[in-house]
Amino acid sequence: MNILQNIPLKNYNTFGIDLSAKAFVEVFTEEDLNEVLSSTEGKNSKKLILGGGSNILLTKDFDGLAIKISIPGIKIIEEDNDFVLLKAGAGVNWNDLVNFCVGKNFGGVENLSLIPGTAGAAPIQNIGAYGQELKEVFYSLQGIFIENLEESIFNNGDCKFGYRDSIFKNELKGKFIITSIKLKLHKHPKINLTYDAVKNEIEKLKLGRVTIQDVSKIVCDIRMKKLPNPNEIGNAGSFFKNPEVNAKKFLELKKEFPDIIGHKIEEGKIKIAAGWLIENTSWKGKRFGNAGAHTNQSLVLVNYGNATGKEILELANEIENSVQNKFGITLHKEVNIY
Ligand code: FAD
Ligand code: NAP
Repeated sequence: MNILQNIPLKNYNTFGIDLSAKAFVEVFTEEDLNEVLSSTEGKNSKKLILGGGSNILLTKDFDGLAIKISIPGIKIIEEDNDFVLLKAGAGVNWNDLVNFCVGKNFGGVENLSLIPGTAGAAPIQNIGAYGQELKEVFYSLQGIFIENLEESIFNNGDCKFGYRDSIFKNELKGKFIITSIKLKLHKHPKINLTYDAVKNEIEKLKLGRVTIQDVSKIVCDIRMKKLPNPNEIGNAGSFFKNPEVNAKKFLELKKEFPDIIGHKIEEGKIKIAAGWLIENTSWKGKRFGNAGAHTNQSLVLVNYGNATGKEILELANEIENSVQNKFGITLHKEVNIY
């Protein structure tokens, strides 16, 4: 394997942060990955695992080996009248996988259209959007423990999926490399219009029967209108998770801030739109050096050009302080900081 030295990472993170890795290698097969991890450099260096780099913030040069996972391939493994089991290499572009499914009328990922990144990173934070989450169709994943090169399979329950969370963001953070995932998709898809943004656009079309192709297209249209394209303006999507509060706290806030946006997630638990909180501490559209909160969606922090990772992190910390001081709510970062 060709391990390269002192490689700029600007093109490997969607924030476009201009930092470098002491060593860098791209792997296309599980055998490549094994070889890299068994090499002297692989054994002795710190590792940074890279998918599409759309959920990371680099704050310093990486003094170790960055491993870009580019294992390809989408394959139907099993099917019956109702379900299809599909395997995707960890390096498959997530949206290519969604398009494959939508094209074949395999339902369950259409609301997750146009999320950047790779299939292998999708379980890391149990990606979710517009009322769908990966865990609903996730079957299993395969990968390798970095320390002893042991291969392992994780079934749905083993991943400890939560809201934008999994075991791979917690006890196994940085310890396990996912090489492929399997999804169990529906051949008779159920349309999910739980999010108003999607439902309203679908209703405008006055369709007799709504298909997953319609939903995918609407989701793509909404996202393209609302979210900054990382190819044009550096960002990593939502920087923070939407915080959850109990019903009592929400009622208190609602009294003081009648416009506050919250959604009931279970009895007594409300998820507050972090974007609203940030907007209402007047960070929306404001710049902090070369970093800022996006004008359409304050939850997305952006790099206006030459921001450093440290500048973006400082802005994030300032926002967290403002939200804490004004609303008494702690925001938690969704983006992985390095
Ligand atoms: P990376 O950023 O490369 O990595 C993320 C983390 O996973 C890192 O810690 C990395 O080390 C680890 N990792 C990556 N690949 C592997 C692997 N194979 N094995 C082990 N660890 C690995 N997220 C959502 O959930 N919903 C959205 O709607 C959404 N919209 C977004 C919109 C925009 C414009 C952007 C820029 C981001 C958005 N995101 C969203 C965040 C991001 O796209 C997802 O979290 C995505 O799954 C990250 O994939 P990636 O391949 O880019 O991961
Ligand atoms: P939005 O539609 O303005 O809604 C604001 C927030 O309210 C969302 O974050 C969403 O929470 C929540 N919400 C809206 N309708 C809901 C419902 N019916 N039930 C429960 N919760 C509801 O959000 P947006 O910023 O345009 O994003 C749209 C979707 O894409 C969201 O699901 C969002 O998570 C996803 N997205 C994620 C990222 C990322 O990087 N993680 C980036 C862009 C968009 P949830 O976030 O919990 O869904």
